Amino acid sequence: MGKRIIFAKYKDDENKSNDTIYCVNLEKNDYDTKYKGKLTCIKGCKARVKFTERKNGFKFFSTWNGEGELHDEGCPYSVQYRGKIGRKKLEAFYRAIDIDEDGIARRLRNKAISLKKEYNADESKDPVVGSNKVENIGDGNIEVEVEGNSSGEEHKERKGSPHINYEDASYITADDIGRTIAVYGVIDNVQFCEETSGKGYAYINFKTKFNTTLHVMFAEAFYSNEYSRGEEEFRRYIEKVELIKNNSLREVTVIAYGEITKKKKREKGVNITVISPKRIFINELSYDEVLRQ
Ligand SMILES: [Zn+2]
Repeated sequence: MGKRIIFAKYKDDENKSNDTIYCVNLEKNDYDTKYKGKLTCIKGCKARVKFTERKNGFKFFSTWNGEGELHDEGCPYSVQYRGKIGRKKLEAFYRAIDIDEDGIARRLRNKAISLKKEYNADESKDPVVGSNKVENIGDGNIEVEVEGNSSGEEHKERKGSPHINYEDASYITADDIGRTIAVYGVIDNVQFCEETSGKGYAYINFKTKFNTTLHVMFAEAFYSNEYSRGEEEFRRYIEKVELIKNNSLREVTVIAYGEITKKKKREKGVNITVISPKRIFINELSYDEVLRQ
């Protein structure tokens, strides 16, 4: 029996629909008549998923029998994934020694720019700016621009330039803990906090579609490296982000690259931990550009 999965993608016969199905909202009868066999992994893999509702009403998805191999290598629902995570982490650690921070920043900015177009088009009432046109500017474009590699072999040769997977903040769950990915979405609110020691840290909370909780977590590492001029500046940065959010009539987007980590005990949801100012964009603004706002 596979892992419990809570989101799935729905593709209809004409391959037009690209809806996300949340297991809690799915009715057994609708599944049997409409969705059965047409739901696939939320991470974009070919593997199909099936729906189960227990007698007590508990609902979940799991990988379709015999299709476990169809999950991509980096997918948290891949059977092999859990065993590999330790080795991957070690590789990531060695890669991080001479990782190309500017390369990451450049790619995140490109993604941020295409996201801005997407979100603005969504809000626009003008039918000329249809969403069809915009969909083509999404992930696919960037993936091609990035490097288009999916095999582990190529990784080794591209030292310092990790492949970046982009995912919508709404679909990040505890299943993603341990993955290093770029997550994008819309800011709900910003919090600055202080430890009893006086050290500052901060959160940016994402707005999500299904009440899942995801925060961008800025730990001390964020302002203790060569791209930051220290804690004082970090506090100003967070204040500016808050101002941008509060003064904006449109949704303010954020894209952040980092590891998905557990929240503290008893707190709901997960964090994406960002360790460098090069790894976050607010709208399409870099850390330095936010400070100059
Ligand atoms: Zn998958």
